Amino acid sequence: QDKSYLMIPGPTPVPPSVVAAMTAPMFGHRSEDFQAMHKEIIGKLQKLFQTQNEIYVLTSSGTGGMESAVANTVSPGDKVLTLVGGKFGERWSELANQYGAEVIELNYEWGTCVDPQAVQEQLAANPDIKVVFATQNETSTGVTNDIEALGKIVAQTPALFVVDGVSGVGGIEIKVDEWNVDILTTGSQKSLMLPPGLAIQSISDKAWKKIEENKSPRYYFSLLKARKQYPKWNTAYTPAVSLFVGLNAALDMILNEGLDNVYARHKLMRDATRAAIRALGLNLMTDDAYASPVVTSVYAPEGIGADDIRKVLKQEYNITFAGGQAKLKNKILRIAHMGFADKMDIIIAVSGLEMALQKVGYPVELGAGVKAAQQVFLGVL
Ligand code: PMP
Repeated sequence: QDKSYLMIPGPTPVPPSVVAAMTAPMFGHRSEDFQAMHKEIIGKLQKLFQTQNEIYVLTSSGTGGMESAVANTVSPGDKVLTLVGGKFGERWSELANQYGAEVIELNYEWGTCVDPQAVQEQLAANPDIKVVFATQNETSTGVTNDIEALGKIVAQTPALFVVDGVSGVGGIEIKVDEWNVDILTTGSQKSLMLPPGLAIQSISDKAWKKIEENKSPRYYFSLLKARKQYPKWNTAYTPAVSLFVGLNAALDMILNEGLDNVYARHKLMRDATRAAIRALGLNLMTDDAYASPVVTSVYAPEGIGADDIRKVLKQEYNITFAGGQAKLKNKILRIAHMGFADKMDIIIAVSGLEMALQKVGYPVELGAGVKAAQQVFLGVL
């Protein structure tokens, strides 16, 4: 079926103009054309990241970008702090463990955000912490953490502040310089509206100092090697040229819409989705205070498997929601509204959900969720 509605938190739908851009004939990655495009892309990314820092576009999935951040900053035996409230926070711990770090894990309940005060206490108790690893948008639970507050705290210490922005950047505001983010690492296939295959990261001066003295083995992900090529707008190895072309086009879309408008659009989709879920009598996993603008987690009704609802959605309406991961498996639905998404996507999602709920034996008032979403969009709720 060609007509499908992909509403998972990555990969996300790619806009037709970006697809079209990526069909351009291949060109060499050592050519002047590539260098000119690379320079343009970095300028646009600096606007998106709100930073003067150098930004590296790696040919890799999002996890590769996370590994690059760890491999380049963590030496064996270093004490690091990971903030863990979901599957992607756990990934920081796993990576840091692989690189021989002494990992202090600050666990916060899945579905809530990390308390900056608790981070401050950990840093005070462990002044030898070298790196703090955080997640901007915890995709597994639908929580957005307060990066500004965390950055302010970490900046007062010698520790680096490394942030996974894989699912949030492009949909949720980030201010790398003002918020003291030493490394922000993101991915192409979520709010940036591209296919999978790129990881993008900014590196602060404070981070470069640590990277230079780092003792972990690195080859493909050596940022020092990448930095040698940077002034020439080259990459160390063959980059995914077509994805770079797509990135250039996607960044144009984002910057032409305007960052403030992009962020407001995502918050509006979040608010409409949440109003609809409440109108249907279902339970949201997260509080309003830290609910993600790009993905909404919803508990399945008592006694009904979330995956049964997803199956009906897929089979009957060709709508794909994500399910729960790890301990949330079969318990929640995750409705993504990130990147190339707008009001009518929410109407489709909610309308399909209402019908699917009916079919799995959880009768709802048809149209109640759609109406609530419409009211949010019209500003009358
Ligand atoms: N971090 C976050 C917050 C994510 O959402 C994801 C992807 N779901 C990743 C990291 C990993 O990215 P990838 O699957 O591209 O390696």
